Amino acid sequence: MLTLLRQAAELLSPRECVVCGAALLPGEKHLCAHCASDIPLTRYERRAQNPMADAFNARIQEHIVATGGTYEPYSYACALFFYKADSPYSQLTKALKYRYNLAEGRFFAAMLGERLAASPLYVDVDAVVPVPLHWTRRWRRGYNQAEIIAEGIASALPGARLRPELLRRVRRTRSQARLTGAAEREANLRAAFRAIAPAQRPGHILLVDDVFTTGATLGACHAALRAVLGPSVRISVATLGFVI
Ligand SMILES: [Zn+2]
Repeated sequence: MLTLLRQAAELLSPRECVVCGAALLPGEKHLCAHCASDIPLTRYERRAQNPMADAFNARIQEHIVATGGTYEPYSYACALFFYKADSPYSQLTKALKYRYNLAEGRFFAAMLGERLAASPLYVDVDAVVPVPLHWTRRWRRGYNQAEIIAEGIASALPGARLRPELLRRVRRTRSQARLTGAAEREANLRAAFRAIAPAQRPGHILLVDDVFTTGATLGACHAALRAVLGPSVRISVATLGFVI
């Protein structure tokens, strides 16, 4: 039933620009020419060190200090575009997450995937892992938006496979806001993810979510994967939006 509703929503999705709402001309997809020329790309996939990677690595280091973990190499991290809550470009991820616009999500995931495939930092990614939703939430929405993006990226990277089975969400984190302390919130999030040891260990994992805000969720996923996979696997991060 949910699948049917989703397909109907996709078929009925109007031929208008997802950012400004203007009617699309034949040949235009999801964006009008004006909005396409103005998309605030980060181009972070070309730079090993960038503000998003710095934020993500700072989070990983905090966890290592707190848990007495071992040395962690600098992780690569990149996003397709700069996400500002009050910018119409925030629709690039909102349309996928809240309005069932899966075709739109796939389109921008493919755009990010092509950029990653052209980058020496990401071209050797062999496993693409979406941040999982708890099954109850996935069931209600009918899909996981991070998985839609991960699919698009995996098909653009020549040696990569989509590996959603490597990571599971074992706890809902909806009550996050009710937890008062930062440490309490962190512990709650850390306990939410469990990694599964694969028969064949990947060499370079790309963790995928729709938006990078504080990096807390991706940091928790990173810790879960690292704990199971050991130190030799590179774990990088890619999202559509980077919140500034
Ligand atoms: Zn437009």
